[in-house]
Amino acid sequence: MAQVKAIRRFTVRTVLPEPIRPLARLATNLRWSWHRPTRELFESLNPRVWAQCGNDPVSFLGLVGREDMHRLATDKDVVARVQAAAADLDRYLTEPRWYQGLGSDAPASIAYFSPEFGITEVLPQYSGGLGILAGDHLKAASDLGVPLIGVGLLYQAGYFKQSLSRDAWQQETYPVIDPDGLPLTLLREPAADGNGKPLEISLPLPNGRHLAAHIWRADVGRVPLLLLDSNVPGNDDAARSITDRLYGGGGDHRLQQELLLGMGGVKALRAYQKLTGTPAPEVFHTNEGHAGFLGIERIQELMAGEQSLTFDEALAAGRSSTVFTTHTPVPAGIDRFEAAQIQHFFEAGLAPDVPTSRILDLGRENFHEGNPFVFNMAVMGLRLAQRANGVAKLHGEVSRGMFSALWPGFDHSEVPITSVTNGVHVPTWVDPRISKLARERFGPEAEVMGRWDLAYNVSDAEVWALRREMRVSLVEDVRRRLRAAWKKRGAADAELAWTDSVLDPDVLTIGFARRVPTYKRLTLMLRDPERLKALLLHKEHPIQLVIAGKSHPADDAGKKMIQDLVRFTDDPAVRHRIVFLPNYDIAMARTLFPGCDVWLNNPLRPLEACGTSGMKAAINGSLNLSVLDGWWDEMYDGENGWAIPTANNGASADERDDIEAAALYELLETQVAPRFYGNTVSEAAGAAGPSESGHEKIPTHWVSMIKHTLSHLGPAVSAERMLQDYVNVLYRPAAVSGREAVAGSYAQAKALAAWVAKVRAAWPQLHVEHVDSLGVSEDPQIGDTLQVHAYVGLHNLSPQDVAVEVAYGQAADSDELANVTMVELEAKEELGNGRYLFAGSIVIDRSGSFGYTVRVLPKHDALASKAELGLIVNA
Ligand SMILES: *Cc1c(COP(=O)(O)O)cnc(C)c1O
Repeated sequence: MAQVKAIRRFTVRTVLPEPIRPLARLATNLRWSWHRPTRELFESLNPRVWAQCGNDPVSFLGLVGREDMHRLATDKDVVARVQAAAADLDRYLTEPRWYQGLGSDAPASIAYFSPEFGITEVLPQYSGGLGILAGDHLKAASDLGVPLIGVGLLYQAGYFKQSLSRDAWQQETYPVIDPDGLPLTLLREPAADGNGKPLEISLPLPNGRHLAAHIWRADVGRVPLLLLDSNVPGNDDAARSITDRLYGGGGDHRLQQELLLGMGGVKALRAYQKLTGTPAPEVFHTNEGHAGFLGIERIQELMAGEQSLTFDEALAAGRSSTVFTTHTPVPAGIDRFEAAQIQHFFEAGLAPDVPTSRILDLGRENFHEGNPFVFNMAVMGLRLAQRANGVAKLHGEVSRGMFSALWPGFDHSEVPITSVTNGVHVPTWVDPRISKLARERFGPEAEVMGRWDLAYNVSDAEVWALRREMRVSLVEDVRRRLRAAWKKRGAADAELAWTDSVLDPDVLTIGFARRVPTYKRLTLMLRDPERLKALLLHKEHPIQLVIAGKSHPADDAGKKMIQDLVRFTDDPAVRHRIVFLPNYDIAMARTLFPGCDVWLNNPLRPLEACGTSGMKAAINGSLNLSVLDGWWDEMYDGENGWAIPTANNGASADERDDIEAAALYELLETQVAPRFYGNTVSEAAGAAGPSESGHEKIPTHWVSMIKHTLSHLGPAVSAERMLQDYVNVLYRPAAVSGREAVAGSYAQAKALAAWVAKVRAAWPQLHVEHVDSLGVSEDPQIGDTLQVHAYVGLHNLSPQDVAVEVAYGQAADSDELANVTMVELEAKEELGNGRYLFAGSIVIDRSGSFGYTVRVLPKHDALASKAELGLIVNA
């Protein structure tokens, strides 16, 4: 009923009897989604209703009848447990944690913007990895006491639910959420009865229209998450549907979502600050380019504020405290709009004090191979943020190459984009049986202290038994889901008896679940269907596969892949060993990761920016079998899983698929399966198929790989490690820069802006006249010192404005330098007419061909990197 919209909504909340009233707080704070004891408390109050409400405490409280509630409220034991849980939550929310032990440079507040947040299946506001990562970011921030505030949009339909037609074509439905039935609180203006008007922010749109939004707050432990909702009475129908669904439509719809997220998001933050008296964020972090307009809103604030900064001064101040994270390794994946479209919207007065031409310049692709008619959100993101990062080491490298046109003249390695490798929130993704074992065996500290090394203190038999238990749970879940999926596809119960015996709890179980863009190659395993069949049906070493994934609704190529795969799984000869489960989501994922022995990942390298599903598998003791892409490229160590070899760069797409599929089959057949069944040479004693031996025989090599995976990857892939990296590498330096920029009425921002203007104007006149080297003989030796003299024309700049560097290293045939070292030269003499002699010495520290060059770069204390301004003169 998209056309019929309520003009008013009412909140009907359960009124809880006084003694158990804290249950409301326990239900609305999403900490329950990663805090097992809170969920167990709800379950214990009424297991039947708990099972019915899909693990959702808010709907649970709505479903337990009034009489039952009153009975619970008179039960002393219940009341005591509720009070204890509430006290525990309060302690969690207020006690000092890791962040509180940091120095005063740590920012008082950090705003984190993201178009999607995957926190729990109860709040379906995510489509895939980006959203799950954002959810994990907030949860880890909460656990560490990092004072983060999340900002996003509240979509009426979130992402779609996936089902299949009889002929295996993806079907999408968009169930509409009711925010009043979710763990969300509407922000209201203060009023004595607590029922003030909803807080509202508003953006002007072209043609005199406007886009208003209300603000919902979700509590993610200690972290508030503000979600903007445009489905409000004051909006016209078009404006009301701006937040209708995640990544809705193209063009204007998408653009307005991003304007609301970025610009409206900053306005919502300000309203929230005013309402609660919380400190203003000192750092702004945008998770991917979609929220980039937040930088424009901040420039607008500064230009309109008391200081009336100029555009350049406001830009300098805003950039200093902004962090941009890119997640996209391919240019085609980047969000772009027509420049004319951006102009049309901003001319409506979205940022009345900011010249539209300057806004357009921020997103303009005015570089080699750029399209001047396009407005590029990632380019704007990079220009509005002084600090930027990719999400794995390899992805950092790929990003530095991909965006190098913005820093012409610099080596790719100098492009100022660092990397922070993603992580996963362990309490969310680790199977409760693992944390329970850790707690019972090693005490409650083991669970919270990340003592992954203790895995070595658990016996092989116990590890193996636990893995089987988790596999059994997955098999049961698969059978239930498969039957339901077939009923949706139109099958009758009578046809579905076979689903009760799908999968075998003692067969090597391999998982593959993720979104289905082409580069992830869902169907690589089908490259040689007969070979896959043989692996599935192998007499001694069979494998079984559990597969899931949603294709973007507009991506028919992805849907075709799903169809091809499902058609293969429909074959009665193999359908007991390979299944496709529709509607991959957080709930399914939590059973899937622990239940799989091996997690398969075969993207086209290097198109997987990081990937996190393999990390979730690893913390549950599943072994990764993956192309060396994303996180696996830096964390595979030879004993924690397997690397699928990749074809050479020269190979065509078809050849690549052939080569990599063959390598995958080969690994499965000769390495993975034999080791799982304990049939490798060293473990060959009493080799037998799965049905006879079951779980009695322990494959010791496999179990040692599990322990190694847990102990080494556990700490490395955890979101706490990721958050600590963000705090140390990006947030703290950004807070320091931001404070310096604004101190003394923005003195530094003003000075920096003036300096940048001067440097940019002078730069085309700068040149290195000539370079002399003294002190080396005809026959140089290691240890010789080389004096370098550079004569440089600085036009009207002074030597303090620049760094003149000698870069030296191994010279290749092409004259390109490798293993480069930089040494800054000193200004020695003013020669008149803006000319200077710079000099210094370098020590020849290696044999072989040696080369050097001289370059000039702008230099200022407020720059975070040498390449920041994209200005360089190479001799
Ligand atoms: C972890 C996760 C993802 C992301 O997986 P990738 O490996 O990054 O593709 C997507 N969806 C769900 C439900 C997840 O749990």
